[in-house]
Amino acid sequence: MRRIQALEVLAAHTERLPVVVTCAASSRELAAVADRPNHLYLLDSMGLAGSVATGLALALAGSPVPRVVAIEGDGSLLMNPNVLATGGFLAPRKLLMVLLDNGVYGATANLPTHATRVDLGRLADAAGWRVLRAEDPDRLGDGLAEAMLLDGPVLLHARIEVGNAPDVPKLLEDPVVIARRFQGWLAGRHEGRSRS
Ligand SMILES: [Mg+2]
Repeated sequence: MRRIQALEVLAAHTERLPVVVTCAASSRELAAVADRPNHLYLLDSMGLAGSVATGLALALAGSPVPRVVAIEGDGSLLMNPNVLATGGFLAPRKLLMVLLDNGVYGATANLPTHATRVDLGRLADAAGWRVLRAEDPDRLGDGLAEAMLLDGPVLLHARIEVGNAPDVPKLLEDPVVIARRFQGWLAGRHEGRSRS
């Protein structure tokens, strides 16, 4: 499964959910698949998608928003593995992290990450997360559907191929503009559901 195939599956399942996505290829390939206001692209904030999503999941615990989705890479998660211990400790029920694991740093000539020998799913399991696995788009879709029924924190560990999608433009939007767009969407989502 290529990253962009995984992101196509994710976009199809998360149109009405807040999605916090890590920097570089993950953000720009998701934007190429579908650039939506419910996407918070963390440009230049490597390692923080899980942290931001954890905070959102806790803040939205009593809201009608059913899940908060973080999309992480293996290199990015390894930059801040404390997010696994924090998630296990705080146990945000609405937190779903999807780990797109190709065992390399996609932005730096595919240098190998520790994930080539360390199973990040097992790390999450040891910290108290529920862990699901996926190796192809069908299983990823099934895993997302299953994760929506489980109390979080849930890690959906998806194995993907090495390599970035060709001809995907860089995301050059100002992060402040991206964040403001996301905030506006989230406020509207909250109000829309509250009125119904
Ligand atoms: Mg990687």
